[in-house]
Amino acid sequence: MTKKHTILLTTLIISLILLSAINTPQTPTALITQQINPEITIKHTPNNTDNVFILTIDDLSLSVAAQIRLTGKIIEYVKNKSIPTTFFAIPAYMQPYNFSNVIEIAQHGYNHINPKDNSHREFTNLTDKEIEARLTKGKHLLEKQGYTVYGHRAPCFSLKEKHIPLLKTLYLYDSSFHVPPNQTDYLIPYIWLDLTGNICNITTSNKTLKDSKQKLFTVIDNWTASEKPIVILSHFFDYETILQNNQTKECLNSFFDEINKRYYWKTTMKDYAIWKSHLNTINYTLNETETTLEITFNTCLSALTFETHSKKQIKTNCQIKIKHKNSQKTTFILK
Ligand SMILES: [Zn+2]
Repeated sequence: MTKKHTILLTTLIISLILLSAINTPQTPTALITQQINPEITIKHTPNNTDNVFILTIDDLSLSVAAQIRLTGKIIEYVKNKSIPTTFFAIPAYMQPYNFSNVIEIAQHGYNHINPKDNSHREFTNLTDKEIEARLTKGKHLLEKQGYTVYGHRAPCFSLKEKHIPLLKTLYLYDSSFHVPPNQTDYLIPYIWLDLTGNICNITTSNKTLKDSKQKLFTVIDNWTASEKPIVILSHFFDYETILQNNQTKECLNSFFDEINKRYYWKTTMKDYAIWKSHLNTINYTLNETETTLEITFNTCLSALTFETHSKKQIKTNCQIKIKHKNSQKTTFILK
């Protein structure tokens, strides 16, 4: 081997050593984003609750004395059961009323009557312009009566997916659709079984009442498993007969008693929509060393709950209210 060859070979070996040094993985301190790192999981409900529970009552009307009396009875009932409630009110039949702050008044069309065929399907076969006019008129009417309108549900669910952009210009949320397409952040879905129309209805026999209630809880558990909020559908005028009849009232009582045994966040549609909109802005970065996992949130959202399977020491830029550890995972709730 000539001297020239030796120099070339040495250069080659040194180059290879240098190249392999560059490619050697460093201690993992790089920033990892939420999308690519499953190290922590943020829960969709606050305070480590198992799900959100919302009672909704459609068709609220306050135009005659009997309706005002019924409203009082329903409010007394849900207050006794500690259930916050969202009423979807028909603007044309409303008037000012002093509701407490655990009651939300949302909008249900304009007058629940279709001007073309007189049916209850208010928006069916109307033009986009006609629909927009009725929605706006209804919203303004409620606002004139002192209500702040955050959300909407169409009478007999008579809107279509193509109306979603219009709804977005008027409301924080909408709940007009059985199975929301892919816009679950805006459209809050509801459970299709009607608590007062099907489950605890006076026409149902005692045995069926029990069975149908069981069916509703099966649906509730499936929704919880898929992280959908538990939004219960019921109707204002049904409560008149249900609250008067012992069997049906007992059905309603046992339903809410079972709900109260569970660890749900009971709230209104509006407060859930606000929570979701805050939750959607949350982002974080992870900085991982051999011993610690440092989580830096862009905002410290009160009651935000996250879990991790990491055994490392957890540090965050937000104050922790509660830390709970078991053999599987550690749960944190922000202050
Ligand atoms: Zn209705």
